Amino acid sequence: MSTVRTRFAPSPTGFMHVGNLRTALYAWLLARSEGGKFILRIEDTDQARYVANAVEVIYATLKSAGLEHDEGPDKDGGFGPYIQSERKGLYREYAEKLVESGHAYYCFCEKCEEESDEDSIHEASALCPCAAMDAADAKAKVASGVPHVIRQRIDRSKVSSFTDAVFGEIQIENKVLDDQILLKQDNMPTYNFANVVDDHLMNITHVVRGSEYLSSTPKYNLLYEAFGWEIPTYVHLPLIMGRDAEGNISKLSKRHGSVSFENLVAEGYLPEAIVNYIALLGWSPKSDREIFTLEELGSAFKISGLNKSPAVFDYDKLRWMNSEYIKALAFEDFAEKAKPFANISGTPLESAWEKIAALLHGRTEVFSEIPEKIAFLLEQPEYGIELFTHKKSKSDAGNTREDLPELRKRLAELEVWNAENISGLLSEFAAEKEVKAGRPMWQVRIAVSGCAVTPGGPGEIMEILGREESLRRIGNALAKLG
Ligand code: GLU
Repeated sequence: MSTVRTRFAPSPTGFMHVGNLRTALYAWLLARSEGGKFILRIEDTDQARYVANAVEVIYATLKSAGLEHDEGPDKDGGFGPYIQSERKGLYREYAEKLVESGHAYYCFCEKCEEESDEDSIHEASALCPCAAMDAADAKAKVASGVPHVIRQRIDRSKVSSFTDAVFGEIQIENKVLDDQILLKQDNMPTYNFANVVDDHLMNITHVVRGSEYLSSTPKYNLLYEAFGWEIPTYVHLPLIMGRDAEGNISKLSKRHGSVSFENLVAEGYLPEAIVNYIALLGWSPKSDREIFTLEELGSAFKISGLNKSPAVFDYDKLRWMNSEYIKALAFEDFAEKAKPFANISGTPLESAWEKIAALLHGRTEVFSEIPEKIAFLLEQPEYGIELFTHKKSKSDAGNTREDLPELRKRLAELEVWNAENISGLLSEFAAEKEVKAGRPMWQVRIAVSGCAVTPGGPGEIMEILGREESLRRIGNALAKLG
C-alpha cells in the first residue's frame, strides 16, 4: 500500500475557524496514525478574497496547535509549489487534455467571470450553448484570442456513486450537476479543478475536508475518471453546530461565542485544551476517556471513530476541559501564561504576582476571568454590611462590630506579616472567645475584600494586600459598621 498522504488546504481568510482547525487536526491525526505525511497547501486561487498576513495566521495556528506539517510552502517535499497561485501555470495543460478527450469545452459566455464556485450562471438543466459548439470552431476562436473559460462537460445520463469514509454510500444523479468552470479566463483554476489536479499531483491518498464539499465530489470523481487517475479516499466531516440561548441549533457562528482559534486563545483557552476538545467534536475513541495529549490522539485515532451527525460545540465543556489543562500546568508555567491576562503590570500587585497566581492556579477555568477574580485586590468594591452575615460561621454585622477593633489591634501588632501568622492569630482569637475559627475568618475576609467569594482566605489575601492596606480596609469596615 502506498504511504498515506493527507493534506490541509485552507484558503487564506485571515483567521482559523475551529471547524477548519478540526479538519487540519483529523488530517494530521490520520497521517500520524498511519505513519504517513501531512501536507499543507494554500488555496489562494480566489485572489479577490486575498487577505494580507493570512498565511502567517495559518502557520502560527498550526504551530500553536502542535500540528506540524511535513511538507508545505516552507518545507519542500518535492511536490511543490504548495501555494496554488504559484501553480497557476500548470493547470491549463490539464484542462486542455479534458477538452481534447471531450470531458470539457471552451465557453465564451460573457458572464462567466461573475460565476462563483458555488453558483453557476447556467442551471444544470439548461446547458451552456457553448457545450454544443463545433470543436474545431471553438478551437479557432480560442486561437484568435477570444476570452474564454473551460467548463467541465458532464454526461447527464449517468448516476454517480462513491463511498465516503464517514458518510458511507453516496449516490447522485448526474443531471443535477452543473458544467462547472475549471479554468478561468486568466488561466487561474477554480477550486473545483485545482483540488483534483493538486491532490493527484501531490499523491494525496485521503482527502479530509468539510461535508460542504460532499455534493460536489461526484464532479471531482468524473474528472479523476476522465484523466484515468486513482480517486482518493474521501473523509468528509460533519458540520460543527452551535446552540443559542433559546436552545436552537444552527451552524456555529460568532453569535454562539468565539469561533476562531485565535480568539479562543486570546480569551484564555490553552491551545492544548482547544485541540483536545475539538478532537472529540465528531470523533470518538469509543471509550469514556476525554483527556488526550496530541500524541495519545495520534495513536488512538481511527477513521471508524468519526461520526457523520453534526457535533454541537459546547462552550461549558470546553471551559471544563480548559480548567483541567490549567490545573495540570506546572505552577511556574501557569504563572507565566496567566500573567498577561491579569492586567496588573504597573500596579502595586505586580510584585505579589506569584502569591496571587498561587491562589488562582486551582481556581481558574479560563484566563480571561482572572481580572474579575482579583479586582478586589486592586480596589475594594462597594459592599453592604449584610455580607458580614454568614450562617455557617455564625458571623453577622453585630458580632463583627464587636470583634473587629480587637482583631485590628492584634493585626497591627503582629510581628511577621504572612498568611500563616495571620491565620494563627485569627484562630487564637476564636479559641479565646470560644467561637468557631470560621467566625473571625469570615468577618476579616469580608472586611478586607468586600466580596462573598474570593480566591483564598483572609490570611492569603492580607499577605498580598500588605499590612497597611489591610488595616486601612478594616478601618473602612468599622466605619461602615458604625
Ligand atoms: N480551500 C478549501 C477550504 O478552505 C479546502 C477544501 C478542501 O480541503 O479540499 O474550504
